[in-house]
Amino acid sequence: MKIDLDKCKGCGICEEVCPLGIITIEGRKVHIGNDCVECKTCMKVCPQNVLSPEMADDKPVCSACPIMCRIPEGAFGACMRYFNEKGAIIRKGRVHTYEEVELLVGSTDDLIINKPLITGIGSGTTYPDFRPSPFIVSGIREGIDIITVVTEAPLSYSGMKLKADTDLFMGQEAGKIYVKRKGKRHVGHLCTEEYGSKMLSLGGVNILTSKDGLFAAKVIFELLKGKKVKFEIEDGAVVEIALGKAPKVNGVSEERMRVGCGSATSGLFAPYMSDAADEVIVLDGHITALFSEHPSGKYLKKTRSCISVKGIKSTDGRYFLDKGSGWGGTDIENPLDVIKEIDKSKCFDGMTLLITETTGQRVAFYTVKKGKFVEGDLAPEARRFIEVLKDSCQPSSVSAVFAAGVGGSARAGVTKNPIKLTRAVHEGKVTITIGGAKPFIFPGGGINFMVDVAKIKYGSIYFSPTPSFVIPVEYTMTFETFKEIGGHIEAIKPVKEVLKAIKNE
Ligand code: SF4
Ligand code: SF4
Repeated sequence: MKIDLDKCKGCGICEEVCPLGIITIEGRKVHIGNDCVECKTCMKVCPQNVLSPEMADDKPVCSACPIMCRIPEGAFGACMRYFNEKGAIIRKGRVHTYEEVELLVGSTDDLIINKPLITGIGSGTTYPDFRPSPFIVSGIREGIDIITVVTEAPLSYSGMKLKADTDLFMGQEAGKIYVKRKGKRHVGHLCTEEYGSKMLSLGGVNILTSKDGLFAAKVIFELLKGKKVKFEIEDGAVVEIALGKAPKVNGVSEERMRVGCGSATSGLFAPYMSDAADEVIVLDGHITALFSEHPSGKYLKKTRSCISVKGIKSTDGRYFLDKGSGWGGTDIENPLDVIKEIDKSKCFDGMTLLITETTGQRVAFYTVKKGKFVEGDLAPEARRFIEVLKDSCQPSSVSAVFAAGVGGSARAGVTKNPIKLTRAVHEGKVTITIGGAKPFIFPGGGINFMVDVAKIKYGSIYFSPTPSFVIPVEYTMTFETFKEIGGHIEAIKPVKEVLKAIKNE
């Protein structure tokens, strides 16, 4: 790349996005190391127009994707898949057999086409797909001719949906999600809250193609690599997220995923709650429960206590409270503040009150003395209930699905009739697997899917600075279906031949 050093302000934005990590800022000026492949990622983000391509004709061009890296000898392209070996551009990393990932993704043997003959991991790509996919293999399974077409599809219209198990308040729905990367970068938004967890959406085509797109893609890629990422939610919390680990919200690590809302907790543990105290309140951002009024308390003939609670009453014993950073994801910071009124005619000295979050993480136990609630140690029955409650909660974790579509030109590597492939996928005649794992295919138009990233072989998703994610895809079907959908019959190779070649690599 050509550098106009006079214009450079040394801001380091280019350093942040270089996929090869070869940019440094020295003496407040940009410095590009050897092995630059002219992917132009740095050029796209530089606010000062410091950088321009140099077109080094002596380096071969990688034509696997539209980035067209010019790769020096002994170096990788920007996607870290293609390599210049003595002047030839080759795909580094070998093709995997399905058997190599079967234990990870789980066997899918109910339909013969559920299991690919080979995976797309390491197969290479032909984006945009104007030629047949790199491997179209045939084999015989249960006496039937099966075809698997494998490719690594660059999916620019993709994103990640995260599920963070926590009741802790992150922000309001639709709140923007930012990361601090040489400036505040918009990388996603908070989604609707689902049962027991917060949902976050990262990326998607509008964000990936925005000025912050390369930063959003980098963040998603960091998560896929198992790194911890710190997010700031608009008008909300600072959240630290790593896949497979407990989420941290404003520095608080969530230990447990709640067993259910306050009402569900009352239903599940009513016999324990009945013994735990004269009144039990389960504080929860979805439904806060008042046990002596709740149907489960009534069923056990619990005497209605003197306490009424705040919030909008849904039905008996169930209340909607405002959300916030207080107990159970409500705005209640001091548990006694949940009490709206006390019926003095029913209140008596010695009356006990237990207030808990649905996870049992924060708990308070009170006894009425001279008309006042005085906090003390948990009574044995209350401790028993809290232990049962805690034991019923799973460890908190962050999980993720990768959401994308393999419509568009990604179908051209399989067939000359794309709509026939789409229809065959929806009719169940073609099975799609992602790195061997079976995704959920959305009903309706296109071939849009969601796949559990924990099931795909670790490290088999790559990043290309178009920006897009390069993901292994396998299409498996009978030979008859392949013919019907106008598949590239001329490109079929026997799977045995391909497997032999892989083993010899
Ligand atoms: S982004 Fe541009 S101005 Fe900032 S350090 Fe890089 S080259 Fe210099
Ligand atoms: S062109 Fe690509 S590889 Fe070269 S310095 Fe810029 S971002 Fe890095």
